[in-house]
Order: sequence, then structure tokens, then C-alpha cells
Amino acid sequence: MRCPYCASENTQVKDSRPTEENAAIRRRRVCPDCGGRFTTFERVQLRDLIVVKRSGRKVPFDRDKLLASVNIAIRKRPIEPERVERMISGIVRQLESSGETEIPSQVIGESVMEALRGLDPVAYVRFASVYRDFREASDFAEVLGEIARDPSAERTTAMPRAGGDDWSSALPLPKKG
Ligand SMILES: [Zn+2]
Repeated sequence: MRCPYCASENTQVKDSRPTEENAAIRRRRVCPDCGGRFTTFERVQLRDLIVVKRSGRKVPFDRDKLLASVNIAIRKRPIEPERVERMISGIVRQLESSGETEIPSQVIGESVMEALRGLDPVAYVRFASVYRDFREASDFAEVLGEIARDPSAERTTAMPRAGGDDWSSALPLPKKG
């Protein structure tokens, strides 16, 4: 497995253990060239899913791409990586068990929004703002309203201080005209 920091091909497994109730193997790896440490997960892939984009273009489903987009939404939020992995696995299992091989990208987007909503309200708003491509300030207010109505979100709906980069980066600027 190539080192994500220095691209060395020379990394070593330091520790392997089952996780996600034996649905995955988690490996801690270390790169002897740069000292970088990282984690990989090995899991069963039940079927090859195809994502159908809005344009109609079809691309193979890529779990890593999905994880990367979620990681952008949860950047700097206090969420353990293993919770994110479980969330992604849950979404993939749901897609795999739908019986469909071709999945519209909006179905995946909606699944991610649903899952993020329970995980972290700030990450949810960030993802939703990009995913839904808000055009009106009212779209944003609507999502905030959805969070406010969800009692399970109350515990974690602590607004970062004004001017903090966490919250301001989640705010899409209303477009004029
Ligand atoms: Zn390295």
C-alpha cells in the first residue's frame, strides 16, 4: 500500500484487527521512509455498483471518492474516523442491498445527507450546501430549519463562535439578482 504522504511503496503493517463487528479488518500502517502513519480498511465488496450521474454518464461506484467528499464536509469536526467509516459502510450496504446495480448519484447524495444529519449538523449543512447547490438564501434557511426541528441534533448543535472558520465556511453566500 503506497504511503499517502510521500508515495513510497515501502509501507509496513504494524497492527491488524477486526472492526465494524467483523465486517472489516483495520490495519495500522507505517512508512519507514517518512515515518508517516495511516489506517486502511479491508472489506467485502458484494457487487459492482454503477453510479449514474445527472448528465447520464455512468461511472463505477468508488467508496474512496464517497469517503473523500464526506471528509471535506466533516473537516475539523470532532468526529472519530471509525464513525465515519461505519457511516460509509452503512450507506454502501444500503445501496448494495437495494437490488439495483445502477444507482442515480442523487440517491447516493440523499443517503449521505440523511446519514450526516444524524452524525453532525455542521457537516450536514456543509454537505447539503454543496450537494444541493443552494441558489437562494431561503434554501439555506430551510436546511437550518430541518436541523432545528430534529430533536436528535440538539445535543450537538452548538454553533461555533462567530467568525470561526468552521461555521463561516459552511455558509454559502447568497447570490444577488
Ligand atoms: Zn511515507
